[in-house]
Amino acid sequence: MKEQYDVVIIGGGPGGYAAALYCVRAGLDTLVLEKLSAGGQMATTTQVDNYPGFDEGIDGFELAEKMQRGAERFGAVTEYAEVTALDLNASPKRITTSAGTVLAKAVILATGASPRLLGVPNEEAMRGHGVSYCATCDGMFFRNKTVVVAGGGNSAAEDALALSKICKKVYLVHRRDTLRATQSYLAPLQKASNLEFVWNKQIDRLLVDNQQLTGIGMTDRVTGETSELSCDGLFVAVGRVPDTALVKEQVALDEQGYIIADETTRTSVPGVFVVGDARTKPMRQIITAAADGATASKFVEEYLQSLE
Ligand code: NAP
Repeated sequence: MKEQYDVVIIGGGPGGYAAALYCVRAGLDTLVLEKLSAGGQMATTTQVDNYPGFDEGIDGFELAEKMQRGAERFGAVTEYAEVTALDLNASPKRITTSAGTVLAKAVILATGASPRLLGVPNEEAMRGHGVSYCATCDGMFFRNKTVVVAGGGNSAAEDALALSKICKKVYLVHRRDTLRATQSYLAPLQKASNLEFVWNKQIDRLLVDNQQLTGIGMTDRVTGETSELSCDGLFVAVGRVPDTALVKEQVALDEQGYIIADETTRTSVPGVFVVGDARTKPMRQIITAAADGATASKFVEEYLQSLE
């Protein structure tokens, strides 16, 4: 990692690496800071079928590697480091990381989002002891076991379907009486003989024995009745929250914590741009994150020209 770059991109998901590809091809000295490995949330999906160009779909981790290599082929640099502080109003902008401090004329925020917690007591402590936020990553630990999937959106539907192929029994517990997930999930969910819907139940307790999850406690949202359900695993799929804590004092966020940006990807701070799931936008998908990355490069270039 050098001392200074034209543009530093924080986050190596599809938005980050698409931005890197376009910036580096525009002749900008480009650094991607990634804390773990390329891909972000995409890397935890085994089968991506809605990113064009892959007629048989592609593994999310593999797609992430391809995106990274595609940007690095033209000279983008990746540094595996965690960003711990940012001064976005300084000129140049100052980024403090676990690998040292780096300066940038422009910054693209591509920090994405993380799973939302269910909000029950002990939840954090039970993570890895029966509670998981990633069916793709952890499903195999529950082969031939009984699991609960919490949620009613596309993620919950996708997780329940995937788990029904591995587990003995899957309960899809939703707090309402219909799914929010797109129609296309419904028929395959209904066809899975080991999958059972549990409607109108709010999970409010984790049942634990010897530091291991043994079940969940629920309250019926219509009758108020409480009940328990034994299970080996709980997969929480109740949405996501943007990873914007680092910048919350410096750029304008909406009430849910997403960084406010229009189609130009500009934030409230000159020279700071945002792409992908961390920003305000109507649809959070790999393809829309990648599109943001391309768009950002155009406005980064325009900003850098204005500095000359
Ligand atoms: P989501 O669409 O926001 O759905 C979250 C679900 O969790 C909702 O049904 C919500 O219930 C429920 N929920 C939220 N907080 C809860 C709590 N504390 N306790 C119990 N239930 C709670 O989230 P998502 O499914 O993660 O999807 C996020 C985005 O990614 C969406 O835009 C989705 O379309 C996209 N996605 C796309 C694909 C795909 O295209 N293949 C796959 C996965 C995700 P209510 O309905 O009552 O609010």
